[in-house]
Amino acid sequence: MDFRLTPQQEARKQEFYKVCEALEKKRPASYVGFESKYENEECWEYHRMCAREFGKRGWLALHWPQEYGGSGDMMDKVLFAEACGYHGVPGVDEFGVAMLAPTLLAAASDEVKKKFLPGIASGEVMWCELWSEPNAGSDLAALTTSAIKKGDEYIVNGQKTWNTGAHKADWAFGVYRSDPAAKKHQNLTFMLCDMKSPGITVKGIPYMDGVHVYNEVYLDDVHIPANQVVGKDGGGWAVVNVLAGFERSNMAMVYALVRVMEYLVEYCNETRRNGVPLSRDPLVRSRIADLACELEAVRTLAYRIADQQSRNEMGLMDAASVKVYASELMERMAQVATDLMGPFGQVPHSKWAKISGIFESLYMACFVPIVSMGTNEIQRNIIAWYGLGLPRMK
Ligand SMILES: Cc1cc2nc3c(=O)[nH]c(=O)nc-3n(C[C@H](O)[C@H](O)[C@H](O)COP(=O)(O)OP(=O)(O)OC[C@H]3O[C@@H](n4cnc5c(N)ncnc54)[C@H](O)[C@@H]3O)c2cc1C
Repeated sequence: MDFRLTPQQEARKQEFYKVCEALEKKRPASYVGFESKYENEECWEYHRMCAREFGKRGWLALHWPQEYGGSGDMMDKVLFAEACGYHGVPGVDEFGVAMLAPTLLAAASDEVKKKFLPGIASGEVMWCELWSEPNAGSDLAALTTSAIKKGDEYIVNGQKTWNTGAHKADWAFGVYRSDPAAKKHQNLTFMLCDMKSPGITVKGIPYMDGVHVYNEVYLDDVHIPANQVVGKDGGGWAVVNVLAGFERSNMAMVYALVRVMEYLVEYCNETRRNGVPLSRDPLVRSRIADLACELEAVRTLAYRIADQQSRNEMGLMDAASVKVYASELMERMAQVATDLMGPFGQVPHSKWAKISGIFESLYMACFVPIVSMGTNEIQRNIIAWYGLGLPRMK
C-alpha cells in the first residue's frame, strides 16, 4: 500500500487531532486506564459526551456506505482512530462502532441495518458482547445458553460471563443455542437484545485492581423478538466469525501506545539517576529503542489490516496476528516502564505515582487483551492452521 497521505487526508487528520485535543482537555482526572469509561459515572458520561460529539460530525460511520451515513473511507477511519488513541479520548464504542456495525453491514438484513445502525452512528446507543460462558470461552461453540423460538420471539435462558461494560451498555449482541438437536456450530443464533429487557441481571466481577468493568450476565426467560436476529436462525457461527475478525483487528490499543511511548521517553529524559538522565544509560536506550521499533512494526501491521479491510480481504490469520502482536507489545511496554520506575511504577492514584500512574494501570490492564477476544494461544493456533497450513494435533 501507499503510506503517503493525500492533501485531503492530511487536512482531515488535522481536523481529527484538533477535535480530540479539545476533548482531551475535558477528560476527568479519574480517567487513566484503557477501560476507564466503564469504571464510574463521571467517566461514562465523558465517554457518552465524546461519542455524541463524534456522532454529530459523522465520524463514527466514516467508512460505511453512503446510504447509511458514511462520509469517508477506511484510511479516514484509521486516521480518526489514531487521533482518539493519541489523545486518550473515548467516544468510540468498540462493541458498537468497531465490531457490530461492520458485522451488520456484512451480514444483517436491511431491516436490522436500518433499525440499529443509526444509534451506533449517532453515538447514542452503547453495546456489549454476550458470548462467553463459564464453560465456553476458547471453545465458544460449546455454549449452553438456550434461545427457544416461540411464535415471533425467542425465550433465552442461561448465564454469560466476563462481559465488558454490560453494566453500562444499552444493548447487547449475543450468541445462543437455538436448536438443542442440531450439530455443534449449526445450532447457534446471533441476536441483538435490549439490556433493559425483563429477566436480565448483571453482576460485577471486580478486576484485580478492584475496578468494575467486567460482569456476569444472567438471562432468565428473556424475550428477544425474532426480527432482532442477525443472519439466519441456526447461522450464528458464521456471524460470530465475521465479528471476531473485526474484534481482533480493532487497532484502538495500538494507537494509544504511541502516546504511551512518548510519555516513557519523556520520563527517561527528565529522570536522573546518579546525576545522569536515564535516557543516557545505554541499557535503557536499548530497551526503549526495541520498543520503538516494535511499535512501528505494529503500526504498519495496523495499516495493512485497514487496507485489507477496505478491500474485504482480511483473513482470520491477519486479525489473529495483529491481536497477538499488539497485546504482547502492550505487555512488554508496561513491563519495561514499571521496571524503570521501580517502586514509583507500582503506585496508582497517589502523589508518588509518575505520569498519573498510567504505567501501573497499563501493567494491570495488559493482561486483558491477551486473554479477551480469544486467548493468544488460540490466536497462535489460528495462525498455524489457517495462515501457515500446519497440521492439527489429533
Ligand atoms: C478481562 C476480560 C474481558 C472479557 N470480555 C469479554 C466480553 O466482553 N464478552 C465476552 O463474551 N467474553 C469476554 N471475555 C471472555 C474471553 O473471551 C474468554 O475469557 C477467552 O475466550 C478464554 O476463555 P476462558 O476464559 O473460558 O478460558 P479457557 O477456554 O478455559 O482457556 C484456559 C486456558 O487454556 C488455553 N486453551 C484452551 N483451549 C486451547 C487450545 N485448543 N489450544 C491451546 N490452548 C488452549 C487458553 O489459551 C487458556 O490459557 C473476557 C475475558 C477477560 C479475561
